[in-house]
Amino acid sequence: MKTRKPLVAGNWKMNGDTVFNEHLLGELRAGIEREPLAGLEVAVCPPFPYLAQAAGKLSGSPIEWGAQNVSDRPDGAFTGEVSAKMLVDLGCRWVIIGHSERRQSMGETDDDVCARLAMAAMHGLGIIACIGETLEEREAGHTETVLARQVDALVRTAHRMQHGADVASAMPAERFVLAYEPVWAIGTGRSASPEIAQQAHAFIRSRLATLDGEGRATRILYGGSVKPENASSLFAMPDIDGGLIGGAALIAEDFLAICRAAAGHSGAAASR
Ligand code: PEP
Repeated sequence: MKTRKPLVAGNWKMNGDTVFNEHLLGELRAGIEREPLAGLEVAVCPPFPYLAQAAGKLSGSPIEWGAQNVSDRPDGAFTGEVSAKMLVDLGCRWVIIGHSERRQSMGETDDDVCARLAMAAMHGLGIIACIGETLEEREAGHTETVLARQVDALVRTAHRMQHGADVASAMPAERFVLAYEPVWAIGTGRSASPEIAQQAHAFIRSRLATLDGEGRATRILYGGSVKPENASSLFAMPDIDGGLIGGAALIAEDFLAICRAAAGHSGAAASR
């Protein structure tokens, strides 16, 4: 039985506008309130300009909201950046860091991602840190080397934030979440099979040993073309603790179906 509470988070990327969001947020809220999903955490991550709208539409509901990135600087003369303090001010509970689209098109390195992690943790934000190999890396047999490099960098920083003297309140294990997103599966309609995803998740969990004892408490989400049709078989895997959802997060019915699939594999479902 899974003891980790599954999390389903929607990554809206650079999509939506005020009218579209109004409908989507309203439908998500109504759907979750109509059919409360025991043992599941749900979050949506709209673009920065719409976080206040998400706060307005979702406060008081079981759905949390978060951002898709955060600055590694506290405040000041950093034109175009958005600070962790601002995200907290907008009621964000989560922030996605290290998404492959940012690693690839904005050239974010492991060090950049870890600096964002540290800043977010210092402000008490929950972190969804993305990792994953490209198709070339997988085909060259380098998947585990890439994952080990990415995870080890994050774990070193997370460990410091959990145990170091530089934060007043330590980051709890449930606020540090990894998302395994094979780059070849993102937005391509080609999801990893449950077996391939499980293999990667088990490897990632083995690298977490220094963080939370045996790595048992840290949630590892799967992301990459999750749809209502494949969600349940992915979430049934022992080391998959929910999903980071891109395209399907923009369709209320699909996102809610994915949430139901995750709730169906939660500890709460198993004990019913
Ligand atoms: C993502 O961008 O995080 C993602 C998983 O996208 P998609 O579900 O569209 O593959």
